[in-house]
Amino acid sequence: MKNKINSRFMIIAALAIVLTTVLTTIVYYRVFQKEVFEDLKNFCYVLEVTGITETVDTTKMEQYAKNSSNIRITVIGENGLVKYDTSTMIDLHENHKKRPEIAAAFSKGNGKSIRTSTTINKSNYYYAVLLDSGDVLRVAKETRSIMNLFFSVLPVILVIMLLLFAICISIGHFLTKSLVKPIEQMAENMDHLEQVKTYKELIPFIDVIREQHEDILKSSRMRQEFTANVSHELKTPLTSISGYSELIANGMVKDENAIRFAGEIHRNAQRLISLINDILKLSELDSNKEIDLALENVDLYEMASNCVVMLAPVAEKRNITFHLDGEKTVVHANKDMMEEIIYNLCDNAIRYNKDNGNVWIEVVNGFCVRDDGIGISKENQERIFERFYRVDKSRSKKTGGTGLGLAIVKHIVELHDGTIEVESELGEGTKITITL
Ligand code: ADP
Repeated sequence: MKNKINSRFMIIAALAIVLTTVLTTIVYYRVFQKEVFEDLKNFCYVLEVTGITETVDTTKMEQYAKNSSNIRITVIGENGLVKYDTSTMIDLHENHKKRPEIAAAFSKGNGKSIRTSTTINKSNYYYAVLLDSGDVLRVAKETRSIMNLFFSVLPVILVIMLLLFAICISIGHFLTKSLVKPIEQMAENMDHLEQVKTYKELIPFIDVIREQHEDILKSSRMRQEFTANVSHELKTPLTSISGYSELIANGMVKDENAIRFAGEIHRNAQRLISLINDILKLSELDSNKEIDLALENVDLYEMASNCVVMLAPVAEKRNITFHLDGEKTVVHANKDMMEEIIYNLCDNAIRYNKDNGNVWIEVVNGFCVRDDGIGISKENQERIFERFYRVDKSRSKKTGGTGLGLAIVKHIVELHDGTIEVESELGEGTKITITL
């Protein structure tokens, strides 16, 4: 970026310098031409008022011409032939009437013209006036042509140009540096972008970068936490399995204990399976964010009644009663995911319930699962959707919970652009409403 800005600066500086030089030269040359004509006009006037031209006083004219550098005086008669010329190298028989300055003088009273000889790099300036006698007086001055003038001062111009260019480059360099500085500071201070003083045009851009940077940090932190949690959760049942099996393998367990230990091994293995299943579901949901959800029309009421049938044996064990209410509600959603949500919420409503409790399921505009169980305190209500968060770890584990159920539920609801709401009172019960 710096190099690009620097090279642009250099191009702009070079162009500006060259253009200024050329334009100044042209303007200067125009002024110079005007001055020369003004001089020639004055000279004519002087000759006219002194009356030299009236009498064609050749000696006086010669004197004048000699005293003024490079001036040539010519008198042309009405027929266009030269009557007198201070220059000796002149063809007296040549008719001058066609010369532009003389033709103009005969028709308008005065005329001027410039003729440049490329071979000798000189320009001749002519100014002519019509005299009272009917003759035309013409004065001429030879000067250097614009090219000649330009080339003669070229070395000086070049030195000035180079000097200006060097100054421009160092200013450009300094400007580029100060221009790029805030951006470099931003790159160096990604973690404290708000402290970097920068251009107001860059503020929206910085805001986006800051948000993205924070998101990246957050998600990397969450991933780290999740990995640590997963390892920890897997380690506990594995340690138990390893311990029990080691005892059996060493022949240190008597028959009646062997059955109990095998039962423990089985329970822990089951726990591992449900943990891994939930972790797999979550990681699938994480990767599904942008993928098509394979939506279809599903009847939530039918799903809820299937779920009630499926969980009835578990509920019966603790004498918990299901109350299903609502009507056929068809939504456009992923079937397996919807089943997962209903099952999870009903399962929780049983597990965190009291014996002889109730679970109400209402299907309208989504569904709502309510229980009159143990309830959740206000501060815990905000956290129950976090991965591996459990209000009462031992109760969750005892009932086969993984701490991932509600995280999965929330994830699915978000994927379906729905909302989830918790209302709960400690000791009174919990109501979770899902709107799709
Ligand atoms: P778990 O596998 O532990 O049930 P969840 O993600 O399903 O994990 O739930 C997280 C925590 O929220 C649970 O451990 C429990 O403490 C609390 N919870 C969930 N549902 C209910 C409910 N209906 N009543 C009381 N507490 C609940």
